[in-house]
Amino acid sequence: MADQDSSATSRRSFLKAGAAATAAPLIASQATAAPNTGRVQRYARLGRTELEIADISFGSSRLRPNQEYLVHHALDRGINYFDTAESYTGGASETVLGNALVGEREKVILVSKIIAHEAMRQADFMRALDGSLRRLKTDYIDIYMSHAVNNVAVLENPEWPAFLEAAKTAGKIRFTGISGHAGRLTRCLDYAVDNDIADVVLVAHNFGQDPKFYEGLTRSFDMVATQDDLPRALEKAKAKDVGVVAMKTLMGARLNDMRPFERDGATFAQAGFRWVLSNPHVDGLIISMTTEANIDEFLGASGWQELAYGDRPLLDRYAKLHGQTYCRQVCNDCEGACPYNVDIAGVLRTRMYATDYQDLEFARSEYAMLGTNAAACLSCSGEPCQSACTHGIAINEVCGPTHSLLA
Ligand code: SF4
Ligand code: SF4
Repeated sequence: MADQDSSATSRRSFLKAGAAATAAPLIASQATAAPNTGRVQRYARLGRTELEIADISFGSSRLRPNQEYLVHHALDRGINYFDTAESYTGGASETVLGNALVGEREKVILVSKIIAHEAMRQADFMRALDGSLRRLKTDYIDIYMSHAVNNVAVLENPEWPAFLEAAKTAGKIRFTGISGHAGRLTRCLDYAVDNDIADVVLVAHNFGQDPKFYEGLTRSFDMVATQDDLPRALEKAKAKDVGVVAMKTLMGARLNDMRPFERDGATFAQAGFRWVLSNPHVDGLIISMTTEANIDEFLGASGWQELAYGDRPLLDRYAKLHGQTYCRQVCNDCEGACPYNVDIAGVLRTRMYATDYQDLEFARSEYAMLGTNAAACLSCSGEPCQSACTHGIAINEVCGPTHSLLA
């Protein structure tokens, strides 16, 4: 962590910039990353919930049977916020968390989620919630979210708020939220905030999506800024005291690609986290924690709310390496390009799990949940989508092979 004085000064100047926080490139402090402490250094107030969460917390989308030890390791390091969903690893994620948290329940904040559909009824939601409670071995979930929201109609379904109210009254949930990482995310955020149906939002947010990140890059790296509307939506959420948690913070998380360029003990992952946590409208972040070493590395960025000296070149290098292959998902500029309604961003997101995260099992389970997969690509000329990506991804060349790999 930065020394307290320089950190505080830098933080003050950052906040003083006010709106500039969404408009100007981040300036790194002169502070160099100190040796990794491997412990949580800061707990952040999660908006109106008044919960205090570890700034870098446990994402369990890839938690598998017999990995209770990972949860214990995270607890030992001070992590108190655990995010899961009924769909993760076929329910195993919730089960493992439930096993690991026996006797620890009151010390942690548990989040779970359901992939909702616009036609679902209160009884459907309640059945799903009861299943999560059973697997998690608890009688309440702190924050229950509508998961991977990309369609306002899902939130407009009156059965959803009615269910939330009933579940709160029954003491089964304390707070509500939405999560999202696709093209209509900001529309969904606006709806949730305007209609007061979310105490917390979980959003895909990383340096590769933000216009201000690219302002500092050379013109040789010609990339259109993406997701320009997300900073506004997050600022609006904060203005209503909605808690904001970020996910997908590492733009594909190809950590090993960056090892040769990391210096002085600071890693690419830590730089990516520092960038996210520098945003005054973000309270904390979750990241998939798959090894004990991962957890210790990630927590090296806990406590930071600014970039360290040397972070920016690492992030720039990563963006240049992967900028032309990483699907931003939330930009959705390709929406409507496919006459067969292939969920292009969804297909590319699941491909990322296979190629970047190197987690084929997780990629296949997520791919199986897509509304319209890429089966049609196998017999398509590829012409309609070949120049639809504003970020240069050859959609027609990757979607078909992705189907072959993941179907
Ligand atoms: S290759 Fe064809 S089917 Fe596949 S996304 Fe492109 S237009 Fe759609
Ligand atoms: S494929 Fe390209 S245009 Fe489509 S969501 Fe991904 S980055 Fe955006």
